[in-house]
Amino acid sequence: MTTAIHTELDADGILTLTIDVPGQSMNVITPEVQADLTAAIERLKTDDAVKGAVLTSGKASGFMAGADLKGMGALMGGGKLPEGKSRMAALFDAVFGLNRLLRDLETCGKPVAAAVNGLALGGGLEFVLACHYRVIADNPKITLGLPEIMVGLFPGAGGTQRLPRLMGVQAALMYLLQGKNMSPQEALGFGVAQEVAPLAEIVARAKAWVKANPNGGVQPWDAKNFKMPGGPATALNPNFAQMFVGGNAMTHVNAGDNMNAPRAILSAVYEGVQVPMDLAIRIESKYFAKVVADPQAGNMIRSLFVSKQAAEKGARRPKDVPPAPTKKVAMLGAGLMGAGIAMVSAQAGIEVVLLDTTQEAAEKGKQYTADRLAKKKTPADKAQAILDRIKPTTDYADLAGCDLVIEAVFETREIKAKVTQATEAVLGPDVIFGSNTSTLPITGLAEAWSKPENFIGIHFFSPVEKMPLVEIIVGKKTGAAAIAKALDYVAQIRKTPIVVNDSRGFYTSRCFGTYVQEGLALLGEGTVPALIENVGKQMGMPVGPLAVNDEVGLDLSYKVAQQTKKDLGDAYKGGPGETVIEKMNEIGRFGRKNAKGFYVYPEGGAKKYLWPDLVQTVAGGLADTQPDAAEVKERLLYRQLVECARCMGEGVLETPQDGDLGAIFGWGFAPFTGGPFSAMDTIGIANVVATLDRLAQRHGERFAPPQYLRDMAAKGESFYGLAAKKAA
Ligand code: NAD
Repeated sequence: MTTAIHTELDADGILTLTIDVPGQSMNVITPEVQADLTAAIERLKTDDAVKGAVLTSGKASGFMAGADLKGMGALMGGGKLPEGKSRMAALFDAVFGLNRLLRDLETCGKPVAAAVNGLALGGGLEFVLACHYRVIADNPKITLGLPEIMVGLFPGAGGTQRLPRLMGVQAALMYLLQGKNMSPQEALGFGVAQEVAPLAEIVARAKAWVKANPNGGVQPWDAKNFKMPGGPATALNPNFAQMFVGGNAMTHVNAGDNMNAPRAILSAVYEGVQVPMDLAIRIESKYFAKVVADPQAGNMIRSLFVSKQAAEKGARRPKDVPPAPTKKVAMLGAGLMGAGIAMVSAQAGIEVVLLDTTQEAAEKGKQYTADRLAKKKTPADKAQAILDRIKPTTDYADLAGCDLVIEAVFETREIKAKVTQATEAVLGPDVIFGSNTSTLPITGLAEAWSKPENFIGIHFFSPVEKMPLVEIIVGKKTGAAAIAKALDYVAQIRKTPIVVNDSRGFYTSRCFGTYVQEGLALLGEGTVPALIENVGKQMGMPVGPLAVNDEVGLDLSYKVAQQTKKDLGDAYKGGPGETVIEKMNEIGRFGRKNAKGFYVYPEGGAKKYLWPDLVQTVAGGLADTQPDAAEVKERLLYRQLVECARCMGEGVLETPQDGDLGAIFGWGFAPFTGGPFSAMDTIGIANVVATLDRLAQRHGERFAPPQYLRDMAAKGESFYGLAAKKAA
């Protein structure tokens, strides 16, 4: 006997169904929940003593967070399905079960009300929508929504059918396609909720409605006189058709036609709302099965949900090191990065000593936090408490008592060595020292700290307070205590960590750089700049390669290339786009910072546009033969893929999970792929190698697949397959 839903019958014959999934801090839909609900529905149908039901949650954390996504993984990527049926038919059965169950609930013949005490997301909200009456607690922080699209899925338990029938097709599409949440008051306005009441009263109010409405067990859409909000749902209604023109356009703009789920949602809503509910939920499940059958959703769920959560919970943390939370951090350098790191640390309750060469610079670093808190309209007392934790200084003696150091001074080896030694003189070498360098190998920098096992890379992204990723870099001598300390700190500031080994550019800067460089190479060959930029965005990158380079600064790209050339000597291999950068620097076009780069940035904030003289200046004019969009996409994509594969082959990366998370959250690599390693596995390693060989022959060595990838192809292996074998 399972007890995921507790039942209690009161004197009025109202059965309270309290969902309280054992062993979980938040309710999720498990097989036990479904079994208990099935039994409860049977009782509602057959027991005359039961007049109706109230569905509520036994968890203070909320009502229900939806499907167990880890469990969903079993359905995907060739998970075990019943024998003797086609894969699609078996998938349909697997996903239709819950849909059918909720339909049984709403057609059980007796009134059922939901009493929603906290968040109801995804399948959680779908449970609520299948009830005939909905009372939500009056806490504005409660979120109600169907966010499945964020992980490449869509609501498959009636959500695409009930939401439009409650709030109208147009409003429902906004919520379904954007995964947007609503507050209880918004839900009330849209007719998604009928009452918003104090938390202590929701169950009583729900019961009162059930008691007063013995015939209330019929959904509006099952009543004869049902009218679709916003007008009839038929292709003959021009307004109805028009909504889908808008929906299609919005989907195209947002997802560049790369994602399956938005298209499936549009189809399920369009077809489903025109037919009765029993057929509508079958249509929904058909599209849901199609989405589940494609590797896209599985890849997205694995990276955006499973791997992300695992990383945040310490998947890469050395197990035998005791917890090492940071109480007081020494922040060396109060520039752009130091100021941001000080802010997120202070927000996490950590004391910060913010050191720079002048008091003015240190104070300016603290002001960064004050400005951002003011912009966010943080309440004065809360903002003051955060600011009180930041102590700006120029005096190394003030670092006393710090249990972690983070360095973000100028990107110069000598300056970094100087501040490292000055810090050690005060704190001693047992404290963990983290450098936020973006390019200098950690192993070399560690020489300035007398215990290199306590030296590590803690690489943030700009702007620190917004970017979710932190790349932890393990130097040759870095020890387990330093890795644990760095990961515990990243958990404190609530960011997502990846752990990589030392190498020039580490993982993220190195691989992201290839996207930009390939864009430059295409430009140098005389390719139409708008083609390069548009294809970059179309393939799912947040911005085109030329636009990114303008943001970073073309002068900085030039300096990094010069420094690398100096460091590597004969081993340096300049990319084909290098002359483009040299030329732009020669003529003083540095990017957004001086309002002229690959783009022109008009005064007064008007929209930037590509510099009309660009191709003529850097390539002597447009090439006679232009590549087509598919060719440009292939080059921009495979140049990144091959570099990622090299990072794995060279041991910079140890797991494909780190690689996928770092790519998506560090440089915005097309999230719908699940990351470069998921993408390569899905394409098939042998196919990746064949494409790289072809590209290398045509465009040069930079595309040549590493031996590691060839060996994988020969053995028929995949990145995640190998990782699973290693973990077993
Ligand atoms: P920045 O120029 O804005 O800030 C550097 C700060 O260090 C300045 O305030 C400077 O006064 C201070 N400083 C210089 N020498 C010092 C010394 N001897 N003692 C104390 N303070 C000193 O630079 P930034 O963009 O904040 O970058 C800092 C570090 O972070 C660099 O190593 C950079 O490579 C790295 N990084 C930058 C980014 C980025 O996007 N800007 C991203 C990741 C990592």
